[in-house]
Amino acid sequence: MAVTEKADLDMIRNSIGKIAEGFDLNYWKQKGDTKAYPWDFKDALARGGWLGMFMPEQYGGMGLGLAEVGIVLDELGQRCGFNACSLFQYWVFPPGPVIHHGSQAMKDEFLPKLATGEEMMCFAVSEPDNGVDTSRLTTFAKKDGNRYTVRGRKVWISNAQHADRVLLLTRTSPRNPERPFDGMTLFLTRLKGKKGVEITAIEKIMRNAVDSNEIVFDDFEVFEDEIVGAEGKGFKCLLDGLNPERIAVAFTAIGLGRGALNLAVQYAKDRVVFDRPIGQNQAVAHPLAASWIRLEAAYMVTQNAARLFDEGKPCGPEANAAKFLASEAGFGAADQAMQSHGGFSMATEYHVSRFWMETRHLKIAPISQEMVLNYVSDKVLGLPRSY
Ligand SMILES: Cc1cc2nc3c(=O)[nH]c(=O)nc-3n(C[C@H](O)[C@H](O)[C@H](O)COP(=O)(O)OP(=O)(O)OC[C@H]3O[C@@H](n4cnc5c(N)ncnc54)[C@H](O)[C@@H]3O)c2cc1C
Repeated sequence: MAVTEKADLDMIRNSIGKIAEGFDLNYWKQKGDTKAYPWDFKDALARGGWLGMFMPEQYGGMGLGLAEVGIVLDELGQRCGFNACSLFQYWVFPPGPVIHHGSQAMKDEFLPKLATGEEMMCFAVSEPDNGVDTSRLTTFAKKDGNRYTVRGRKVWISNAQHADRVLLLTRTSPRNPERPFDGMTLFLTRLKGKKGVEITAIEKIMRNAVDSNEIVFDDFEVFEDEIVGAEGKGFKCLLDGLNPERIAVAFTAIGLGRGALNLAVQYAKDRVVFDRPIGQNQAVAHPLAASWIRLEAAYMVTQNAARLFDEGKPCGPEANAAKFLASEAGFGAADQAMQSHGGFSMATEYHVSRFWMETRHLKIAPISQEMVLNYVSDKVLGLPRSY
């Protein structure tokens, strides 16, 4: 979809801002503390049609682009934090492989339910024993006629406690060192209420309103007509979702950084020590000003990546650069916001520590800064591949 006019982008920001007003930082603290999925927030997004904003109109979505999605993530990041962004993101990049490679029957049956929020999905790629080297995943789908039996373990799979379906990456033939990414098959299959699967939530330090899980598949049945794309070509189908994921994560990191900065600026105006607001000290003010500058720069790089994607142009280097810069700028701002809050940064009622942990996470997942640098070294600079 073509880049939306500035007025439309403002309209999107205002609409999301109005929704966010009903879900303040105390709401998110309570949801995180009690590990409770924010159903009322999800319903509010669904009522406005926002869950389907990145999905094609023919399946009930708005057919908008990443530039527009970025406005939503920036606004939610600032006002609500990572739980809200993360919830919304499960309607942004996981459906990508289905939209681009799913069979017509699969798309007709599933996407309209996803767009309205009637159904939820998760995606299961990561495994405990192979880390960022996806080519070594071992979860195996063994074929028998038109069905497959899946055995293996996945880890960190977010949203799985409530997801109706899972986008599941498996191996269907052993790893060939000559073509390590061949032989993987992607399935979109029902998760909820199915036999042969055990889902266990992982205790984590942040974003606790959205669960992350270990999943054990043991004789879990999937069917031929649930394959996304073609057998053995699953990794290629997944690749389509990677650039949007990186760009969406970059917008999220910027929103979170801006949220933390807003808290710090307010605190620096309000907190009086030595008979003056602490923000009057340049040692407090300048790092906050530098954080704002870095966030602005990262935002422009991210908008550029989103524009290229929305115009259907190659954007791998730009998406990776955006993810790298935005996570650095977001975490840098949150870290500075901690410093500005002094001892009170440690009190959870001030919320700033949540932004700090959430932005720290984005330097690690969904893709680490090191793997972004590996990509740029290899694909952009042409240096010998190191991994
Ligand atoms: C909260 C959370 C939610 C998640 N949600 C999902 C989800 O929904 N679905 C899903 O599939 N996955 C999910 N993940 C998994 C996430 O994508 C991985 O945690 C992430 O890719 C890092 O993998 P790892 O922890 O196994 O790192 P490892 O591979 O163990 O790497 C550890 C460190 O070593 C570095 N490293 C390793 N090899 C190299 C190299 N060759 N060069 C340079 N550095 C290297 C890495 O960059 C990293 O810093 C989630 C993770 C978290 C924490």
